Amino acid sequence: MSDNALGLDLDPSILDGSLDCVHCGLCLSACPTYRVTGRENSSPRGRIYLLRGVAEGKIELGGLVADELGLCLGCRACETECPSGVEYGAMLEKGRAAVAEAGLRRGWGARVERFALRWILPHPGRLHALVSILGLAQRLGLDRLTTAALPVLAPANDLLPRVPAAAERRRLPAFTPAQGERRGRVALLEGCVMAELFGEINRATVRVLSRNGFDVLVPPEQGCCGALHAHAGDPSMARGLAEKNIEAFAMPGGEPVDAVVSNSAGCGAALREVGQWLPGRGEALASRVRDVCEWLDEVGLRPPAGSLPGRVCYDDPCHLVHAQGVAEAPRRILAAIPKLEPIEHADAKSCCGAAGTYNLLQVEMSQQVLAPKLDALADADPDWIASGNPGCLLQLAAGAHARGLRASVVHPVQLLDRAYGQDGQD
Ligand code: SF4
Ligand code: SF4
Repeated sequence: MSDNALGLDLDPSILDGSLDCVHCGLCLSACPTYRVTGRENSSPRGRIYLLRGVAEGKIELGGLVADELGLCLGCRACETECPSGVEYGAMLEKGRAAVAEAGLRRGWGARVERFALRWILPHPGRLHALVSILGLAQRLGLDRLTTAALPVLAPANDLLPRVPAAAERRRLPAFTPAQGERRGRVALLEGCVMAELFGEINRATVRVLSRNGFDVLVPPEQGCCGALHAHAGDPSMARGLAEKNIEAFAMPGGEPVDAVVSNSAGCGAALREVGQWLPGRGEALASRVRDVCEWLDEVGLRPPAGSLPGRVCYDDPCHLVHAQGVAEAPRRILAAIPKLEPIEHADAKSCCGAAGTYNLLQVEMSQQVLAPKLDALADADPDWIASGNPGCLLQLAAGAHARGLRASVVHPVQLLDRAYGQDGQD
């Protein structure tokens, strides 16, 4: 850290990173917030200019900078377009940390987010209890009464799915053996939100990995990946959570694993960045992380014998396509399912507007960002919309429902699991 001309403690890499930007503007058309607003300050180039100005002591670290960094989705579409290799995502996280440090994250939304990220998400028991209460409220209809009384909660209520049955929220078995000829052993990141709201996807992931010849270990010591903490400007909390996962995944079951598999793009991207968060300690974990579709594609998918007649649109999660560079593997996996017809839609690689807690804190912009994607999905009219990140699944499902689309929103491994299930061995 170094003091700039305004006397602020700023990570010096913010200035170094901003100097890589040559102001070419090639990233602008890929930026969802620039496309909506047309404002330079709400573009990647504009935000980099603001951060550079702050680092050089020429621009005050105040409301404008805080607002523009808050309005950024962190989708990193700008990185994919950038010919100069600007590492915008890392710069954004450091900028947001400076904003938080300066006490500029104000309002009830930011306070609730900070409380939830510090005191709920990293504590599986508390998260489980909270989701159980939510499930009870849904069953009694209290969620509708609450949002009628407090309309400010309506966007959150619209996004939340029905809380799954208790059986689906059980933790995964610590060990599931490979089926057929054994090809190796992998560890699975169970996740926090995934475990509570998407247990069926977790179970499908275990079955699919096992069906592909891998012993699946789920280290019980693992915890939240810290992605949301890093995005919200709380790097110390993110590093603390990463420490725990470095330990948990170092040698699960006493032996090294071939890969640490994630079925959540945001979590996978965070685990891949652990080497930057904790240089020296995090590289070993980061280098072994694979998205589940990426891993199956890399090792060679065992083709399912069952078929799944229908059409599927794959929608790229930003933290898979832009942050991890994985675009083709999920498409190849879906294309391997007999009778399933993958169809591209016109807006697949743009952000859906979920972006962690963004759709709760920046409701209007989130909906504006989502709208063209829903238009494209309506034109394509698939039977399924497949995506590999919990936030995207919630956002797409809520959007598809509101738009009246007939498609079901699923994770690619759920379709694969269904196709395997039809071949009579499950
Ligand atoms: S991360 Fe996304 S929203 Fe933010 S500047 Fe880059 S393209 Fe725009
Ligand atoms: S594409 Fe890269 S170098 Fe060009 S303006 Fe955007 S961030 Fe700067």
